Amino acid sequence: MSRLLEAIRLAGRGLILVVTGAGASQASGIPTFRGREPEAVWKQSDVALATRRTFELDPVAQWSWYLRRFERLEGARPNPGHRALAELERWQVARGGEFLLVTQNIDTLHEHAGSRRLIKVHGSSDRLRCSRHGCRNAAPAGSLDRSEIDLTRFRRCPERRYLPICPECGALLRAHVLFFDEMYGEHEDYRFDEVQRSADLAELMIFIGTSFSVGVTELLVGTAMRRGVPRLSVDPGGDSQPSWTGIETLAAAAEDLLPAVCARLHP
Ligand SMILES: [Zn+2]
Repeated sequence: MSRLLEAIRLAGRGLILVVTGAGASQASGIPTFRGREPEAVWKQSDVALATRRTFELDPVAQWSWYLRRFERLEGARPNPGHRALAELERWQVARGGEFLLVTQNIDTLHEHAGSRRLIKVHGSSDRLRCSRHGCRNAAPAGSLDRSEIDLTRFRRCPERRYLPICPECGALLRAHVLFFDEMYGEHEDYRFDEVQRSADLAELMIFIGTSFSVGVTELLVGTAMRRGVPRLSVDPGGDSQPSWTGIETLAAAAEDLLPAVCARLHP
């Protein structure tokens, strides 16, 4: 705990950049994306499902899968790790400092825990968007609140004719997430430019529950190495990142470590 506490204090008012991956939501009952447990979300068959190619070839299969995922996420509640990150943000902002949380998770647990300076770089499960480029509900900037789209007919009868369609243009709706065969620049909501700019300003990077297997962690770790920025990884397994990255691993669960650190930040 003292290592993380010291790093946070040393960052001063400089930007503390926190990156969360699936491990941050595991204590909320959401299986990790590439974990070893049998329920891990990203089994190889699932990686193929979460692509634009599958959306185009077999939207019924993809939609059925996303609905199951969304249902799992809906029952989840923020855990003490989520709440501690919101508290860390408030503490850092209160001392006139900079803070940014970049999450790879599409669940809404960080928002519900009170995080405000948040970038959902892989999209969000509570929104959908139109698949027809140029529609105002589509990329590069449009999306829709999922709760306003009636999915009950498709849920009851998962057939092509009941797939959700855009209220504006009638094209198929899709999940508002970054598919594996898409680029971060695909949608403005992913705010990838801002992530890149923040990487160049950060005084400290803290990685939580990420397997370092997606593009955004590659970018951030690379920038931190180039700039000599301290980089810590909170990971109960302690083995998720390659040694050449110079990342210091804190072998602890975020939901235990982060609340303990927050408690020590306050006088
Ligand atoms: Zn549309």
